[in-house]
Amino acid sequence: MSSATKPSATKQITIIGCGLAGALLAVLLAKRNYQVSVFEKRPDMRKIDISAGRSINLALANRGIAPLEAAGVMSEIKPILTSMVGRMIHDDKGNQNLQKYGQTEQEVIYSVSRGDLNKILMDKAEQSGHVKLIFDADISKIDVNENKIFYSDSENSHEHEFQRIIGADGAGSITRKALQQLYDDVESEFSTEPLDHGYKELTFPSQKGDYAIEPHALHIWPRGEFMLIALPNEDKSFTVTLFLPQQGKTSFETLDSEEKVAQFFNTYFADAKKLLPDLNRQFVENPTGKLATVRCNRWHWQDKILLIGDAAHAVVPFHGQGMNCAFEDCLELVKQLDSEDDNWTKIIPQFASLRKHNADAIADMALENYIEMRSSVRDKKYLLKKELAFKLEQQFPHHFIPRYSMVMFHHLPYSDAYKRGKIQQLILEQLTQDQRDITTVDMKLAARLILQKLTAIIEN
Ligand code: FAD
Repeated sequence: MSSATKPSATKQITIIGCGLAGALLAVLLAKRNYQVSVFEKRPDMRKIDISAGRSINLALANRGIAPLEAAGVMSEIKPILTSMVGRMIHDDKGNQNLQKYGQTEQEVIYSVSRGDLNKILMDKAEQSGHVKLIFDADISKIDVNENKIFYSDSENSHEHEFQRIIGADGAGSITRKALQQLYDDVESEFSTEPLDHGYKELTFPSQKGDYAIEPHALHIWPRGEFMLIALPNEDKSFTVTLFLPQQGKTSFETLDSEEKVAQFFNTYFADAKKLLPDLNRQFVENPTGKLATVRCNRWHWQDKILLIGDAAHAVVPFHGQGMNCAFEDCLELVKQLDSEDDNWTKIIPQFASLRKHNADAIADMALENYIEMRSSVRDKKYLLKKELAFKLEQQFPHHFIPRYSMVMFHHLPYSDAYKRGKIQQLILEQLTQDQRDITTVDMKLAARLILQKLTAIIEN
């Protein structure tokens, strides 16, 4: 066994996982003169063409952009972003209707390639001169008493002595498993709730060198129990994702032949099928992914081990916030380092308790958003409430902001957005009861309810 790395300087951090959160955190810590070792089980994606993992592209929103700005990487990232101004709803007759996300030009989200984003962060981390990235290092064991982690590459076994570990190793985190062994009541402290729906990624290729459909939108084909979505890529293709029950009458389980897949797409997604020339090949070759919500009451062990990102709080992808939340974790952590003079003993429990209830809130909102995306967006009452929410935001900007906007365009803690969103929903329901048109909504009642039930929004 070789001893790969030994700590020498005092400000040492070991990160497990060089995905999105691990790579960003390395950059932010390097800026604070930490010596950072990052262990990543996959090969270096900048040298070997590997899939960056689940989901080829991701929606990046304000919460994710602020940490990238703090890391000084936005100038490299901006050129690879495609803005999406709203949801383009495709009904079952092939009609399209754009539902805008926000009310101003700035209120947009961005489609970004997971792999390209990760590569930029890796480059930036290495350029700092303070970060060592160790690839092909699948951490298999963490010895908390001896302060050692163990991994093997294709030839040898290695160990690395650590001072402090940050587990940024995603939903299936080995760091979380090590943490579980340190606590007694594992079942009540850590849970993984699988979703009974899975997903499959497909591609609309570009057409005659151009996008096949409108590029500046997130496309949704809502079909009640399931849906198809599409996000634009820089190369003018679209990554298309089918979300569908794993089992049951209409499910991944029953789509088990070329004929059934073709018939399913003809019935529900006829317009999209025309843009998928090799549907059957893609359907067979591309894996069916699983989705789950991970919740942990314990994010740390003393000041030695801390979880961030999906390792602590994997959420289902329907609010497009998993990465954004993971990036926000990184920024919150280093903000606390700055304000508490690098006192990790104080910071780690403080950080964990601050982020835990926010992570729980986005986990719940993400689950709720699946119903909204696959079903509610087609509903007239939903559209009336959305229109009214925008009107209320215009008239009471300090008290009422639509929940989607609070999550995607603001920096209000997720838990506040969740709480305020529930109150706002009740107000919207009361105001639209028996109403079909926004012109007949009682705006005096609206003012009374809002000022009675909602405090003024205070945002940092
Ligand atoms: P990961 O990105 O999973 O990175 C973990 C890293 O750790 C990986 O590189 C992995 O190889 C490495 N690793 C794991 N185990 C070990 C080990 N034992 N040793 C060493 N290395 C290890 N989020 C959004 O914000 N917007 C979206 O639009 C969005 N869309 C999504 C769509 C889908 C279908 C899915 C599944 C997720 C989506 N997400 C989205 C969520 C987002 O992908 C995650 O929240 C984000 O990747 C979390 O980053 P992370 O760094 O915590 O984990």
